[in-house]
Amino acid sequence: MRKLAAGNWKMNGSTAALAEVSALLAAHPAPGCDMLLCPPATLIAPMASAARGSALLIGGQDCHAKASGAHTGDIAAAMLVDAGASHVILGHSERRADHGETDAQVRAKAEAALAAGLIAVVCVGETEGERDRGVTLEVIGAQLAGSVPDAAAAASVVVAYEPVWAIGTGRTPTLPEIAEVHSFIRARLTERFGEDAAGFRLLYGGSVKPSNAAEIFALPHVDGALVGGASLKAADFGAIVAAL
Ligand code: 13P
Repeated sequence: MRKLAAGNWKMNGSTAALAEVSALLAAHPAPGCDMLLCPPATLIAPMASAARGSALLIGGQDCHAKASGAHTGDIAAAMLVDAGASHVILGHSERRADHGETDAQVRAKAEAALAAGLIAVVCVGETEGERDRGVTLEVIGAQLAGSVPDAAAAASVVVAYEPVWAIGTGRTPTLPEIAEVHSFIRARLTERFGEDAAGFRLLYGGSVKPSNAAEIFALPHVDGALVGGASLKAADFGAIVAAL
């Protein structure tokens, strides 16, 4: 399947940072993988304008489970679509930690995203303590069961495996550890969704950078990356795109 290089800008970037998008598109007009950038909500519309007619897809970093109403500060899935987004990251560990998002809430948001026509990038991942206790696969299995909606399909849901302890730390699991979790995710999706599970894109995220991208992408069941810090600079993200 065609791989996906996804960038999560988190709470970084102002309009001046759109210059990075222009540089990325100039350097990679016809990339060999799909490219997605998820900027903060304030930049979705201008980034979508900058990307119009190019290979770059745009996504949000969260959406509300409801379609509209009295939810100050929140954004509905249809509003992301209206601003030019095709994807939305849901259940990122920073939202699970900062906002107490539960698997059930992530699932409800994913259902809203699918109903609005967005592709949901559902994040799962263990903490360092969970890995040390040897319960990584149990944790991932529970998050998958709880967060991925029953209506999920290969065309509408991407699963991102992001070990919490690898995010922004420069540390990554070993290659066999990444391969083990990705195989496990594929197997769990196959139990639930049958043959369609082969088409779900599974991304690895957590300290992906130009120097480790190629070896991670070569692993079975790794269909791309969800990149944080290294997605902010066109040169770094472009090098990861080129490695896919
Ligand atoms: P880093 O690439 O900065 O480790 O962040 C990963 C991440 O959380 C992407 O969603």
